[in-house]
Amino acid sequence: MIPFADPHAQVVELRGEIDAAIARVLDRGRYVLGDEVRAFESEFASWLGTGWSVGVGNGTDAIHVALRALGIGPGDEVILPSLTASATGAAVLQAGATPVFADVDPVHRTIDPIAVEGLVTPRTKAIIAVHLYGQACDMDSLLEIRRRTGVHLVEDCAQAHGARYRGRKVGTFGILSCFSFYPTKNLGAIGDGGAVAGSDPALLEKVGLLREYGWKERYHSSHEGWNTRLDELQAAILRVKLPHLDADNSRRRAISDRYDAALAGSGLALPVRRCAAEHVFHLYVVESDARAGFASHLAAAGVGTLIHYPLGIHQQSHFAPFAPSDGLLATERLTGRILSLPMFPQLSACDQDRVVEAVLSFTGQHQET
Ligand SMILES: *Cc1c(COP(=O)(O)O)cnc(C)c1O
Repeated sequence: MIPFADPHAQVVELRGEIDAAIARVLDRGRYVLGDEVRAFESEFASWLGTGWSVGVGNGTDAIHVALRALGIGPGDEVILPSLTASATGAAVLQAGATPVFADVDPVHRTIDPIAVEGLVTPRTKAIIAVHLYGQACDMDSLLEIRRRTGVHLVEDCAQAHGARYRGRKVGTFGILSCFSFYPTKNLGAIGDGGAVAGSDPALLEKVGLLREYGWKERYHSSHEGWNTRLDELQAAILRVKLPHLDADNSRRRAISDRYDAALAGSGLALPVRRCAAEHVFHLYVVESDARAGFASHLAAAGVGTLIHYPLGIHQQSHFAPFAPSDGLLATERLTGRILSLPMFPQLSACDQDRVVEAVLSFTGQHQET
């Protein structure tokens, strides 16, 4: 079976360095918020090109504390796409704010700025730009909306470590940007992890307070706070992996080039790359008129696939109170058609060929319209 993703394959590649990093942490005896986290925070911020980053427990918490640091809470509206991980919506609710769901641009599948425009009200405090599947949102339009309305722009970069827009890395556009280091992400730990990044030191200091009981000084909660720390072991492993991230993203792009060329005549809708942007292919997502049969055909041929996502957040039961009454046309059409093909840097050329062969043996028999 060709797995859909294979975080273990990267551990195998870097096993010696990872073992050494783990041993270093074990022997030093400091396991939470020590030298490794501090070093990772500064290495990650300098890789990204922001002044600061703060390690947190996971990507959902990164969005939650970013919103809290901006003073967003009950009564405030936050605009986000519905086609994203449930986590983006969960974080908005965790902050006590009201999620307002925008449709996506059906071509690039990222939040549609025209839809956003129509949803801004006097209660809107932030827009979350989710760089979905590894591709930057239409940042020119979102930045223009920010300029005109004064609403905060927060980036959800959980699927887009290293993606660029007009040469600039995503995560450097918003007032705060949020990352997940879940094992299958482009930069992944061997457990949970996340970070908030930005260029305003006062805001990042606030994030630092929020992640640990509201402590400015040890044992003195001077602010509201939670517990969402990045641990030393994950930070040490992320420090091993960070120097390989750009090369890994290039390998993902090479696989996507290969898929693009081989599947061009298949009739499937393939990922469309935004002009002036550099996609990092966290996921390679195609669209089929006959997805159920397509997915089971691939499974029978030994090709693992997943759906990201089978429902928009507004279609999920907990979020029903926030669903727009007319639904979201592009999101609902995509969630019925999309399928993610195997995509990870270590996917071998032979396995890429097997994926292509399995796809073409289905589309050859089933004409897409
Ligand atoms: C993975 C992901 C998250 C959440 O990250 P966790 O570390 O799992 O909490 C948030 N947003 C998007 C777009 C994601 O893909």
